[in-house]
Amino acid sequence: MERQRRNTRSKQLMMNLLDSSQTALCHEEIDRLLAGQIDRVTIYRILQGFCDQGRAHKITGDNGKAYYALCHDCNAEEHHDDHLHFRCTQCRKITCLDVPVAVPALPTGYTASDISCIVSGCCPDCHNRI
Ligand SMILES: [Zn+2]
Ligand SMILES: [Zn+2]
Ligand SMILES: [Zn+2]
Repeated sequence: MERQRRNTRSKQLMMNLLDSSQTALCHEEIDRLLAGQIDRVTIYRILQGFCDQGRAHKITGDNGKAYYALCHDCNAEEHHDDHLHFRCTQCRKITCLDVPVAVPALPTGYTASDISCIVSGCCPDCHNRI
């Protein structure tokens, strides 16, 4: 019972974190932001759970690191995160952009189940700093 309550609280904490973040977050950032409130293993488990439930999606950066951002109209059966992801080469942040990505015409025999598109460059924050 106690364990269950703590689990619900941890999920809520992480949901709020992802919700309030303007950018996608990686494990290290989440760990840092939570300042030890949730152990690393639990963070991994909860993030995986969010992805399975269609509440968050994973973006793999060009550095091979996994980043997570909230989904908008996904569910446990299907993800619809076919929007552009932007990676800033200055601050290294990954942002979901509300720009749809079209699935390219694939050769016969190939079916797309997921599309990921990352554009690298300079974000508005860093642009203003220069
Ligand atoms: Zn999704
Ligand atoms: Zn930037
Ligand atoms: Zn996204």
